Amino acid sequence: MKWNTDVTVVGGGPVGLMLACELRLAGCEVLLLERRAERGSHSRALSMHARTVETLGLRGLAPRFIERGRPFAVGHYGALETMLDFSALDSSYPFQLVIPQSMTEQLLEEHALALGVRIQRGALVETVRQDAAGVVATGQLGQQRFSASAAWLVGCDGARSLVRQQAGIDFEGYAASTTAILGDVQLRAPLPAPAIMKVSEEGVLMIVPLGDGLHHRLIVIDARRCRLPVTEPVTLAELADGAQRIAGIDYLPTAPRWLSRFSDETRHAGRYREGRILLAGDAAHIHMPAGGQGMNVGMQDAFNLGWKLAAVVQGQAPQALLDSYHDERHPLGAQLFRNTMAQTVLMTAFDVRGLALRSQLSALLMQPQANLQLAQEISGLGIGYPASLNTPPAAVLPEWSGRRLRDHGIAPAGSVHGLLHRGEWLYLRLSDKAPLSVACTGRVHTVRGDSDAVPGARALLVRPDGYVDYALA
Ligand SMILES: Cc1cc2nc3c(=O)[nH]c(=O)nc-3n(C[C@H](O)[C@H](O)[C@H](O)COP(=O)(O)OP(=O)(O)OC[C@H]3O[C@@H](n4cnc5c(N)ncnc54)[C@H](O)[C@@H]3O)c2cc1C
Repeated sequence: MKWNTDVTVVGGGPVGLMLACELRLAGCEVLLLERRAERGSHSRALSMHARTVETLGLRGLAPRFIERGRPFAVGHYGALETMLDFSALDSSYPFQLVIPQSMTEQLLEEHALALGVRIQRGALVETVRQDAAGVVATGQLGQQRFSASAAWLVGCDGARSLVRQQAGIDFEGYAASTTAILGDVQLRAPLPAPAIMKVSEEGVLMIVPLGDGLHHRLIVIDARRCRLPVTEPVTLAELADGAQRIAGIDYLPTAPRWLSRFSDETRHAGRYREGRILLAGDAAHIHMPAGGQGMNVGMQDAFNLGWKLAAVVQGQAPQALLDSYHDERHPLGAQLFRNTMAQTVLMTAFDVRGLALRSQLSALLMQPQANLQLAQEISGLGIGYPASLNTPPAAVLPEWSGRRLRDHGIAPAGSVHGLLHRGEWLYLRLSDKAPLSVACTGRVHTVRGDSDAVPGARALLVRPDGYVDYALA
């Protein structure tokens, strides 16, 4: 079996699906190869943070996710007692959306199919070879061999990425120091609150509803068992025993739907691009799932890469634009490791000194400014990019370059994000003195905006992913 397409995406997790949607929206032919014959049913990522919901909103998709999830105005940092207050975030979505990854994948897959992405399930990629003209992936589909040729290939194939290995990209980092267990279970004892977090010298326990009215996610970091290897199977008895010792209450977990052990192994791809092969999501970075960030960061990788790769495929931008993907996203991977490693230390600080550290930091988080800073980091809203990608035709207001554009107060229609649904560049003319058009790497949608919206600016050029490229003074 042979395919020929513009871009092959390997891996149909949330990141591969998001990327495929973006590429297809921009008009590329996309083949997505996924080894699993059926969609995954495990809840895995539960937290979808504000910037990810906002990102989906940039394409008009946020309402269908919000409808299937449950907004929580608070979140945790390192399981500290003082919660992060997401309601203080400057966003139209000031919350974290609790939605199982299986549902996120379902909704993204439905959208991808509606856009015309070709999704080939049961296709295990085994080799990836590139030359100056393109990339060929070969593998097994049932009893048949297949070969998929494309101008570009993106590895969204998760932590053990074959694409990364075949491209010769290193994956340096730190071996696991801690393991935790999770169980998606039913509880026979009533809970005093919708969500629970307990920390004691015995460890950390978190309980979150899975949203189906039946199951809860229990996470246990058991001080006595957190050095077990990640390969050690988990039993319901182990989960129940750890939870009871930590909380001092038996919540009577039963009927496990999923039991798993995970670790704080932390690794980062040395580069996100090797010639015609790119990496995104867990293929590029893994870490402790603390604060619920891996899928969110991966989906942001895809959102950064999609329009850039589409512009290169369609001859609207030089290949050099793809280097900005590595330049913009790689430092954020490093930042992610700092916060997840710090959180791991806090979540495993069980002795009396560690508990003292936790209590000091928890008190600090009562300060609104400190709380907001971490809430912005975890939510993804704190991110900006350092430089303009296009050359401005006149002087700019430097503080706007690379800044995330909020969804209010600019366009006459009220929602500036609504103007980005087609995934094009947006040129917002805020004054009659602004140039009538600007040159940039991709299709541009020009709109006359509200002149008072950005004081001192005559015009804004906004990237398809919702960051300002520049504001003309
Ligand atoms: C317990 C736990 C809780 C978590 N909670 C959160 C959370 O709340 N929020 C959050 O943001 N993140 C969370 N994460 C992290 C999140 O699950 C991952 O970051 C996310 O799944 C990464 O998505 P991905 O698409 O990059 O990779 P994956 O989801 O791993 O998808 C990769 C896909 O590639 C396919 N594939 C692999 N190899 C091949 C091949 N050779 N050929 C074809 N297909 C292939 C796989 O079958 C898979 O479908 C959590 C993780 C764990 C373990």
